[in-house]
Amino acid sequence: MISRRTFNRALLAGLAAPLLPTVAGNAFASTDGGTLTTVSDGNLVLPLNFVLPDIPKAELEALEGAAFIQSGELTPPCNLTLVRLQDRLVLFDAGSGPNFMPSAGRLIESLAAADLDPGAITDVVFTHAHPDHIWGVVDDFDEVVFPQAAFHISGTEWDFWRAEETLAAAPDDRKSFVVGARSRFDAIEERSERFQPGTEIIPGIEAMGTPGHTPGHTAFVIHALDEPAVVVGDAISNDPVSFARPDWHWGADQDPEEGASTRRRLLDRLAAEKLQFVGFHLPDGGIGRVEVDGAAFRFVPAV
Ligand SMILES: [Zn+2]
Repeated sequence: MISRRTFNRALLAGLAAPLLPTVAGNAFASTDGGTLTTVSDGNLVLPLNFVLPDIPKAELEALEGAAFIQSGELTPPCNLTLVRLQDRLVLFDAGSGPNFMPSAGRLIESLAAADLDPGAITDVVFTHAHPDHIWGVVDDFDEVVFPQAAFHISGTEWDFWRAEETLAAAPDDRKSFVVGARSRFDAIEERSERFQPGTEIIPGIEAMGTPGHTPGHTAFVIHALDEPAVVVGDAISNDPVSFARPDWHWGADQDPEEGASTRRRLLDRLAAEKLQFVGFHLPDGGIGRVEVDGAAFRFVPAV
């Protein structure tokens, strides 16, 4: 007998082909012989005053190339990184799942379009525990959608979302972030490993502490590829703002001051070492490099 879950999955797989051209940002950007790929989870829809509450209008309007400043709304893509190693298939973040925003939560469709079953994923590694990164570990029936995977998350991140003070201090419109993170932690706890920054979490994958967006936000250096790549998560989260104005406070950052200094440090390193990297919310699949541009930077997409 076909279960409801199997039926939904089959239905989604069947829909994936005709839906693909209309899904914003549903790009597959590949590099390094196809061992690093991004798959789209759709996109978010965010009001301008959520992400840049502190920047005067005149300064915003002086920034070129940011169409959202006129429209008052951002629609950032969500790019999940998939890395195929010899004996593992590693997914970075799990997307939004069905209950965050109608424009997001497309991961299962995108995997199906790439001929991948969630059961093939051996490891899911989290940059942090915001809804668009972790809510997708469970489906509509609260079942974990990666039946074979081990889950890896920063111990600092885990403790932050679990802490009583975090729920008490969260503004009303973000309390659901705390409740949502905790229920996903409950779902994956038995199969999860908590890591410290600076450690090798999987052979060839190093965790790099990049706090500010959240206290335990982590980037990952993938040394196991022919050419190393860095998964930066939301430490660098908007093109052009994060590059042209890295010091601007970003409203989605838990600690905007620390977020800005982390971003500046990370951009300096990526530019100096000419490293390829993936940004979760960057355009064109999110893979690219950064170039120095005067006192700031510029994103150069790989595709
Ligand atoms: Zn995000």
